[in-house]
Amino acid sequence: MSHHATIAVVGSGPIGSAYARMLLEQLPDAHVVMFEAGPQLTAIPGESVRNIADPAEKERAREMSQGPQAGELRESLGIPAGAVVEGMFTARQGTHLLDFGGDGSAHAPTFPAVAAATNVGGQGAHWTCATPAPAFSEKIPFIADDEWHDLLEVAKDLLHVQSAAFADSAVGAGIRSLLEEEYAGELPDGYGPSTLPVAGDPQPDGTMRWAGADMVLGPLIDPESPLSARFELRDLTLVRRVEVQDGRAVGVTVEDLRTRETRVVPADLVVVAADAFRSPQLLWASGIRPPALGRYLTEHPVVISTVALDPDKIGRFASEADLDAEIARRSVNPADPVAAVNRIPFSEPDHPFSLQVMYAENPPFPLDPSHPAAGNRWGYVNMGYGMRKRPRFQDGVTFSDEELDYRGFPNMTIEYELTDAENAEIAAATERLRRAGNALGTFIAEPRLLPNGSSLHYMGTMRMGEADDGTSVADPWSRVWGVDGLIVGGNGVIPTANAMNPTLMSVAVAVRGARKAAEQLAASDHTRQTG
Ligand code: FAD
Repeated sequence: MSHHATIAVVGSGPIGSAYARMLLEQLPDAHVVMFEAGPQLTAIPGESVRNIADPAEKERAREMSQGPQAGELRESLGIPAGAVVEGMFTARQGTHLLDFGGDGSAHAPTFPAVAAATNVGGQGAHWTCATPAPAFSEKIPFIADDEWHDLLEVAKDLLHVQSAAFADSAVGAGIRSLLEEEYAGELPDGYGPSTLPVAGDPQPDGTMRWAGADMVLGPLIDPESPLSARFELRDLTLVRRVEVQDGRAVGVTVEDLRTRETRVVPADLVVVAADAFRSPQLLWASGIRPPALGRYLTEHPVVISTVALDPDKIGRFASEADLDAEIARRSVNPADPVAAVNRIPFSEPDHPFSLQVMYAENPPFPLDPSHPAAGNRWGYVNMGYGMRKRPRFQDGVTFSDEELDYRGFPNMTIEYELTDAENAEIAAATERLRRAGNALGTFIAEPRLLPNGSSLHYMGTMRMGEADDGTSVADPWSRVWGVDGLIVGGNGVIPTANAMNPTLMSVAVAVRGARKAAEQLAASDHTRQTG
């Protein structure tokens, strides 16, 4: 009789979802149980809240993602709406600060904007959906280019990546032309201004249905698909511990946050994809403590600004009629602020940063009506440079066995510092941002460096490496060193210094991990049947 492998997935974000999908597609008899600490927000599990047209409903979904939501713990740890910048990089609604300052708060004075989302779909229900691919030294050095290319293609399919979203926007094209003029001759071929790949399905009316974990799960949440019979998603279920026996993960201890009941769920494989801080925390709480756990934290220092498009400048490339068409398209979904997305990608040696240029009808903050750029008919551009951070052992999160956090886990302390290397690149990118802004219009918010932790792209805390030498947590297939049957997934696995939005890369890494895990489970099944 065939063995029915049970796979426990911790976390329902894009990465846990990618593992679930890939494993079920490859293993015809396996079952996946996915545990999610937060609540389900939308009728379709894991859908992007950006697709919710009703502002009150959208607000409710974000509020529900901002902290513990079970029973009496229905408190919000959220970021006040006035302090957020929609459509850009910074910590926003839908997320909750880890260092929120109350009882059981993490300690992160040097990384104050660090945030998470707790809901079905994870941060992937709130993300901006920018999905550039890593390039040059951003890539993982020990994965060959051919394989990497294939992994990225699968990842793009899973996330529904569009490389030319809003390519028909004449204003968007005009923005690219102005940036091309500004940077003429300075950027390598193929790495100049271009449309930013984003994840979602373009709709016939010109709007986007943005991607969330729902699209990654695909057939697993389609009742018509046979795969859905082998998939179970339990929301408001907190994984408290990974159970390990004789060097092998054998299941998870879960707490139903509705009833407060705790039980052990046996599993043949455990995938921990519970974000870059809570995954290492769960491993630590389970007694799995490789020396690199939580260390080598990186993110993207971010410099942002907002510019009112100058009618004379953009008018050289787009007409009033183009603008009318743009405004008509945007009015179809006024709740979605983004109208066109451009970028200048990372390239080496001269442009080791990533510029994201979001075109929107309104500024991301209230602009005094008496401001000369208020009510600008041509709209506004929110622009930001993401930069790299060199991985260092001393930057990272440590866990306390004495002090528990608000969930009863070993509390976190994050220590993090920018060095001369980062400061030099921040200065260079800020200068370029000024040039880009001046090429497009007038600054209504000057370039400014956001507080550490603002990128929401937290990497390195469970980094993969080629050898179990203390500088990595997982092997090149994301398997935790020294514990069989345990995989870690998410941005924490990325070992490189990079500037690109990391989700596509993390999904590609997950595809690799899932393929290897499926091979291993199939082989052990075969041994069991024949042995
Ligand atoms: P998450 O999506 O964080 O999901 C982890 C899940 O695990 C959470 O739902 C959490 O509740 C759950 N969990 C944690 N602990 C436990 C436990 N013990 N038991 C059960 N469940 C648990 N990335 C990009 O690449 N491009 C972008 O444009 C972009 N924009 C962003 C904008 C915003 C506003 C935000 C918030 C994020 C953005 N990101 C972006 C980051 C992106 O969303 C993440 O890279 C991605 O969601 C990571 O996926 P994940 O599955 O690893 O983790």
